Amino acid sequence: MKRKAGESMKYPIEVREAMALLSANGAEAYIVGGCLRNMLMGKQPHDWDMTTSALPCQTAELFRSKGYSVIETGIKHGTVTVLINGLPIEITTFRVDGEYSDSRHPDNVSFTPSLEEDLARRDFTVNAMAYSEKSGLIDLYNGKKDLSDMLLRAVGDASKRFKEDALRILRAFRFSAEHGFSIEENTKKAIIEGKEGLINISRERIYAELFRALLGDYAEKAISALIECGLLPFIFAEYKDEATPVADIIGKLPKNIGARLAALIWPLGREKSERALASLKMSNQDKKAVKNTLEAAVFLKNTPIRTEEEARLFISRFPLNFSDSTLLASLLGDCSKASQMLIEKAAKSDFPKSVGELAIGGAEIISLGANGRETGQVLSFLLERSILDPKLNNKNDLKKLALNYISERKK
Ligand code: ATP
Ligand code: MG
Repeated sequence: MKRKAGESMKYPIEVREAMALLSANGAEAYIVGGCLRNMLMGKQPHDWDMTTSALPCQTAELFRSKGYSVIETGIKHGTVTVLINGLPIEITTFRVDGEYSDSRHPDNVSFTPSLEEDLARRDFTVNAMAYSEKSGLIDLYNGKKDLSDMLLRAVGDASKRFKEDALRILRAFRFSAEHGFSIEENTKKAIIEGKEGLINISRERIYAELFRALLGDYAEKAISALIECGLLPFIFAEYKDEATPVADIIGKLPKNIGARLAALIWPLGREKSERALASLKMSNQDKKAVKNTLEAAVFLKNTPIRTEEEARLFISRFPLNFSDSTLLASLLGDCSKASQMLIEKAAKSDFPKSVGELAIGGAEIISLGANGRETGQVLSFLLERSILDPKLNNKNDLKKLALNYISERKK
């Protein structure tokens, strides 16, 4: 085993405590995976993973006997989460994955006393290192070298690894987007060869990885590699090769899913982009943000904004997404500089964007003689008038306008 003892690493005292406890009970225990990778990169890990020779029930019993809370998160896969001073640490027993017959889940997993075997099942060399105070860094696949070269390289036979679990393909682009890794040539070739396996991955997992890839600091680099590898049609069945790639635009958009996913599916056109969106398993809130951004960008493409009034109407129609869609449409060449400037100016001006921002409320409209059904119509009318002329948004003027509107309706 290639060991580099003596290398010291900074990690929380709780993780040290967990490692010491397992070690004192005769088990091997290491920090492993993304937290180790992030530590070596000088980045803050966001979760703490350990791997151990102890069996899951032994780990659970040991920590419980010391009074710690233990959650049996994935006992079937060998994982228990222990809480030390409130810090969750995921401890997984050294594991070998069985055959993969569905490109995603091993048919079975078995525990092994061998750290080497556990590291061999991991996806990329930078994720396949282990560290303990006793042994130092264990780096069987030159992960540290790949880390310093910022390269993602599959552990073992790349083609086989992506065939086993096609989610690893998307994980590669997610890691690339979050950390700036390039994908090593042979690994890239295997990704291209194995891309059809993505069809077997659940839409929920696809979205989870895509979400992180789109919002990463290096999204543009990762998404352009993903497009170059020809993956889009395997993520969205609607995508055909003739559609225009859009990676450079994505990096110029703010980091929110509404804007960036809208940019990714924009070239599909209205109908297909709606279908592509519907095919993902995502929250309604995210879905709405993408939909509204697309709709607003289509609006701008078809309707040049020529006056401040039009700009204010546009903003009030898409109050949450006007800014992202304006940027998206301008990057796509569908919104002129002049329109963009009018929208920016209007956004800074004071005008009511919704009926809630009017200087008059529903109860007052009713007291002026409107019935319940009419009230909404009166408020919409007042809003439109105030958007066109924001000076009207005061109680007196709105009252007068409302009375006129109601009496006209009664004629
Ligand atoms: P993050 O910083 O996003 O948590 P991570 O590398 O820790 O990244 P996790 O999904 O938390 O990613 O997984 C922890 C570790 O488990 C990985 O570093 C890798 O060693 C291994 N792993 C996770 N998923 C897979 C997979 N699908 N195939 C192979 N190894 C995997
Ligand atoms: Mg992790």
